[in-house]
Amino acid sequence: MYQLSYWEQASFFSGIDFLVVGSGIVGLSAALHLKEQAPKAKVAVVDRGPLPIGASTRNAGFACFGSVSELLDDMQQLPEDQVWQIVERRWKGLQRLRRRLGDQRLQYREWGGYELFKADEASNFERCAERLPHFNQQLAGLTGRPDTYQIASGKIAKFGFQGARHLIWNQAEGQIHTGEMMQGLLEMAQAAGVQQYAGITISHIEDQSPQGVQVHTKQSWPIHASKVIVATNGFARQLLPEAEVQPARNQVLMTKPIPNLPIRGCFHYDRGYYYFRNIDGRLLLGGGRHLDPEGETTDQFGNNPIIRRALLELLSTVILPGKTVEIDQWWTGILGVGPTKAPLLKTVSPNVVAAVRLGGMGVAIGSLLGEEAAALALEG
Ligand SMILES: Cc1cc2nc3c(=O)[nH]c(=O)nc-3n(C[C@H](O)[C@H](O)[C@H](O)COP(=O)(O)OP(=O)(O)OC[C@H]3O[C@@H](n4cnc5c(N)ncnc54)[C@H](O)[C@@H]3O)c2cc1C
Repeated sequence: MYQLSYWEQASFFSGIDFLVVGSGIVGLSAALHLKEQAPKAKVAVVDRGPLPIGASTRNAGFACFGSVSELLDDMQQLPEDQVWQIVERRWKGLQRLRRRLGDQRLQYREWGGYELFKADEASNFERCAERLPHFNQQLAGLTGRPDTYQIASGKIAKFGFQGARHLIWNQAEGQIHTGEMMQGLLEMAQAAGVQQYAGITISHIEDQSPQGVQVHTKQSWPIHASKVIVATNGFARQLLPEAEVQPARNQVLMTKPIPNLPIRGCFHYDRGYYYFRNIDGRLLLGGGRHLDPEGETTDQFGNNPIIRRALLELLSTVILPGKTVEIDQWWTGILGVGPTKAPLLKTVSPNVVAAVRLGGMGVAIGSLLGEEAAALALEG
């Protein structure tokens, strides 16, 4: 059994004030905020992977805050004002992320987002179109534009979609380079003096209040910290069995470069269940989780042939009809979802804070949630 040496214990793992579990966007934003608020504190971040391996390095990079049909669906589950509060937090989170890393590093492009409706979705489109004036009024204060959402069905021919009848354009939506976002955050954390340990899996957290927290690792040595923030999103229940969070896997494909790709922007289809965008002359397409909800309720990465077939079908029949396209890569990522779209931010025991359940728009809300978790940990 590997045991820590005196030196390893003394220099690396002693006197940790704040230990953050999970180095995704939430964990790193929390660690950076802790260092900003308490520069002398010893802040450490641990992750089980060599990289943050959950959702933050594996997402689609939409800088979005909700398509019209998704928001209308959310309003079936939650009172409207709560839906707008979530939208506002996504918006604020995006502004924080852009301020922290800068648009150049993020490769932020405000090329807009589009929701696509096929011919057989007339009633869905109509219910969305009807609400645009009200939605635009709600959003004007946030986006600074009087008409954030607009009907833009005239652009269908330019994009070359087949079978699409309507488009709703969200002009305040952008896209980022996900890898640059995460590499940028890791670099900033290192520069700020956050200790980062990749390859340590936490197996169990024991709050020994008032003596702090004993964090047990699969590597067999425990780590002691005064406070712990759990930022493990879709994997949260491994450490917090009571947390109302389910893992939800997502399948993604990336094509090889496509000459004269006509598509530019972020696209949402089928109430947000599918999404696609351009990147580096390629097309990224993902989603389809609703086709096999049981199979995709897992925190294990892996192929789902039913969904991959559906993505290929969508690609060849609607998105790039008649084009010969080669698939370069497939991958999966794990979301954290729950009974509501609001994230779970909670002090779960005197010295342990949970900041998990980011849902499908964690790039947006993640920076804000991390900072809120840090504030809670500093408070207690
Ligand atoms: C395919 C896909 C596409 C998406 N597209 C978008 C999008 O376009 N726009 C958007 O806003 N959002 C999108 N999302 C959602 C967004 O990526 C997530 O909500 C966000 O990245 C969650 O960040 P996080 O830091 O909470 O979790 P994660 O990034 O999942 O980080 C959690 C970390 O915890 C670590 N961990 C877990 N358990 C342990 C343990 N026991 N010990 C140590 N470490 C542990 C994991 O290794 C992981 O690195 C997408 C998600 C997926 C999967």
